[in-house]
Amino acid sequence: MKNALAYARVSTKEQAEKGLSIPAQLKAIREYAKSHDFCILQEYTDLGESAKTANRPGFKKMIKRCQKDKTIDAVIVHKIDRFSRNNIDFFAYKAILKKEGIRLISASENIEETPSGEFIENVLVAMAQFYSSNLAEEVLKGMKEKFRKGEWPYKAPIGYKNIRDEKGHAYIVEDKKTSYLIRQMFKLYATGQYSFASLSEEMAERGLKTKYGKHLSPERIKSTLTNPFYIGILRLWNEKRKGKHKPLVDETLFRQVQNVMKERKITQDRWQKRDFLLRGLLYCQNCKRRLTAEVHERGSYYRCPYNVNNPICKEPYIPTKHLESQIEKLYNLMEPTPRLLKILKAEIEEVQNNFKAKSSNEIQNLKRRIRENEAKMDTLVDNLATKTITPEIYKKYSQRYEKEIKEARDRLAVLEKDYSRNFDFIDKCMILASTLSKLHKIFSFQQKKKLAKALFRRIWVKNKEIKRIELNPPFDFLLRNQTRKIHKVFPNLVFEHYPIKSTQPR
Ligand SMILES: [Zn+2]
Repeated sequence: MKNALAYARVSTKEQAEKGLSIPAQLKAIREYAKSHDFCILQEYTDLGESAKTANRPGFKKMIKRCQKDKTIDAVIVHKIDRFSRNNIDFFAYKAILKKEGIRLISASENIEETPSGEFIENVLVAMAQFYSSNLAEEVLKGMKEKFRKGEWPYKAPIGYKNIRDEKGHAYIVEDKKTSYLIRQMFKLYATGQYSFASLSEEMAERGLKTKYGKHLSPERIKSTLTNPFYIGILRLWNEKRKGKHKPLVDETLFRQVQNVMKERKITQDRWQKRDFLLRGLLYCQNCKRRLTAEVHERGSYYRCPYNVNNPICKEPYIPTKHLESQIEKLYNLMEPTPRLLKILKAEIEEVQNNFKAKSSNEIQNLKRRIRENEAKMDTLVDNLATKTITPEIYKKYSQRYEKEIKEARDRLAVLEKDYSRNFDFIDKCMILASTLSKLHKIFSFQQKKKLAKALFRRIWVKNKEIKRIELNPPFDFLLRNQTRKIHKVFPNLVFEHYPIKSTQPR
């Protein structure tokens, strides 16, 4: 039996809605726990106004307990949106739990399918398209060499696989398990009947999934369909080379697919123009209201929502481009320097090593416990065979020993699984932080928007200028040393860090 904590919350506004009440949430959690062999040690709840604000006293108590109590294996919620109020909360607190080796479980959803998980995956897909020279000039040199010889220096795209011959030379061959699906995907898209999203569904049904068994995201579908790798061409650092690998689709089909995409894009663009990069993040420093965005004949603007009810605020309209270019400038300035990255990496590694040392102690203890109980079991069997003990006594003790062994094995499995993945999240955020401006350049509009949302909690504006910025964790930690650099360009900009100390290593 594994140990878990339960958490439920409901805001005043939500209370009326069906199935959302605290008792209903707890009931679902208890049922889940029962059928999945969890023992709920305690139930935490937040109700009414406190559930909505950042306070959430129940939640905080629960997190505290998670950080202290080493016997906890999981936190169970009814739905993920009960656990976090936004993606960033979700990231930050999930990272905390991960650090403690605690799983976050939703009684009614699969967590890996949440937008946050998908966002990180999108980032990594985009990352594969370029390489940050900050960290490893040498590696880059080797890769360029490889590329010039017509070899792909990265992980092979889906439909292919990387292999190594006896001499250790790496190359890329067709992956027969997925290559026919990639061909199908190109053919289906060429019919013009599919969007990236519907093609993602269709291909998943046909068996094309990520290595984690999830749907290929629409962005991934797009990047696959536009990747000339499939017609035998390598494209990297704005250069093209004929690859040594075998093409999966012919050029006619590939061209057809690009044409269909162009036609569909015209329709998409029309829809996207009404969307705004910084919507929801901008606030008026003067009247504290959230800015709205709208399209005018002369262009699009962010503006303070002043109207008859709020006539006091006389802040000017801000052309969207004006603010968005300030954000681009900021991205450039916010990127940690290679030197700082090294320091950060070292800091995180230290925390990681401490964690490893701590859990390796526990792993050894668990292994010893298993060995001891197995030895006891052996003796017990011997004693039964020589009739030194009665079958009743044998039964009683063997059950106890077996239970001990099972518990130790379960805990061991959890530890070993989370071992390497524990600091993955911070690592990914670091990559993100160090490549902000590059990402912003290569991202699609929707990805740019997600990037801004991941970084900023609020952006305060006055007189058409950004005045104050609140960063989300863990970026507040990762980017904390950039303020001086930023002040050279934005002398009056105030940085406010969202205070969640626990996301900061140490
Ligand atoms: Zn205002």
